[in-house]
Amino acid sequence: MKDIEEFGRRLENLLKYGNIRGPKRTISVTSVSFCPLKAALTTRYDVRFFGEKNKERILGQVLHMGLLGLIKDSWSYLQGDIEATPEIEKEVSYELGDGWLLTGRIDLVIGEHVFEFKFLSDWSYEKIPENLDEVDEESVLNAYTEQLNAYLNILPDAEFGHLWIFRHNELIPWKKLEIKKDSKAFKGFLKRAKGIVKLIESIENGELPKDPEPRFEWECKNCIFKSICSK
Ligand code: SF4
Repeated sequence: MKDIEEFGRRLENLLKYGNIRGPKRTISVTSVSFCPLKAALTTRYDVRFFGEKNKERILGQVLHMGLLGLIKDSWSYLQGDIEATPEIEKEVSYELGDGWLLTGRIDLVIGEHVFEFKFLSDWSYEKIPENLDEVDEESVLNAYTEQLNAYLNILPDAEFGHLWIFRHNELIPWKKLEIKKDSKAFKGFLKRAKGIVKLIESIENGELPKDPEPRFEWECKNCIFKSICSK
């Protein structure tokens, strides 16, 4: 009976606050790597369920779910000498202060190894860099790298990050980038997350920033907030 009560409480929180934990407010790790205003508006108005979806994103999500399911179902064939139990879609959180949480869901954790799988459309195998030194400043790979670094810093036993980049049309071969744990970069990431909290609070006071600064030049093009944003 306790389980059902807990389920009811979680459902109520989800309906009321947009997350299962209740009034604690959450910012997703994923959103911190993009435009702060977009992150603030998305968090404040909980716009997960409309607008942003498109064919490519949906296909990416399906491929993502399929790969995680395959790893889970075939682990006994895949594990080789690995003794650690794989944790799929592991939920993590980090206290930002004042009731705010930074939250995320990691694709796969195996012992001290943390994996993120990304599926890109319109990228040839050759176009995906072999290592991080080759990554252009405007590349979305920078966002993925810092998200993975955030997970490495949030999870106490995590040491090694693996960013595996697949393409929509041809899954094999894929590129495997290794990410080093960087606590200084994580501090900068937390600072941006706290900046988003401040923006949300300004929005709640009826203020929208006059000169918002997207993280990447290309973000405004497809942004659902374009019609209300001064950019
Ligand atoms: S239009 Fe550009 S600056 Fe405005 S919220 Fe969207 S991404 Fe950010």
